[in-house]
Amino acid sequence: MTAESKKYSEFTNPNLEIMFTAEQIRHRVAELGKQITKDYADKDLVLIGILKGSCVFLSDLMREIDLKLSIDFMVVSSYKDAQVSSGDIEILKDLTHPIRGKDVIVVEDIVDTGLTLFRLLEILQTRGANSLKVAALLDKPEPRIKKELKIDYCGFQIPNKFVVGYGLDAANRFRNLPFIATLKNPQEISA
Ligand code: 5GP
Repeated sequence: MTAESKKYSEFTNPNLEIMFTAEQIRHRVAELGKQITKDYADKDLVLIGILKGSCVFLSDLMREIDLKLSIDFMVVSSYKDAQVSSGDIEILKDLTHPIRGKDVIVVEDIVDTGLTLFRLLEILQTRGANSLKVAALLDKPEPRIKKELKIDYCGFQIPNKFVVGYGLDAANRFRNLPFIATLKNPQEISA
């Protein structure tokens, strides 16, 4: 490792413009956790994280929910990868445990058009859960196509900007940022 690469700091990369600080996120996630703790007392709660983007949010959120709960994960490919906007998705990794009779909260990083989550909920609705709700850290209402999609637990509403950090990536980078930021110059992300 060269002396130069040792000094590099991803967290203070000048291409990043902070939208929500780690402290603001922590505070909001704690509020969501408290609300879920209240709403799911005596329920059989399962949090389903949609990988990879929700990994940081799920990890923090579950530690703010003071109840018996279990977690599971899904990986889905969205229409964006397929370069079609049909909203169809492919399940690349399915749940490891059935959700029949369970009270499920699907945990997402961000809802944009809503196409991915809408289709995923349609699939999960066929699996006999007792209830099915959504927690999303970020809600970008402007580009929403599926207007009927309800986000039951929403961290922050944001403008129609591309954001990274706290699990969200650009070309698989920036998921490790403890805050959420926009890129001042998206062309420079490999710099
Ligand atoms: P939707 O189907 O709602 O349009 O897409 C949701 C998915 O697109 C999210 O789970 C996320 O992976 C990706 N996405 C949407 N907006 C953003 C954004 O601003 N930043 C990043 N990094 N990913 C986004």
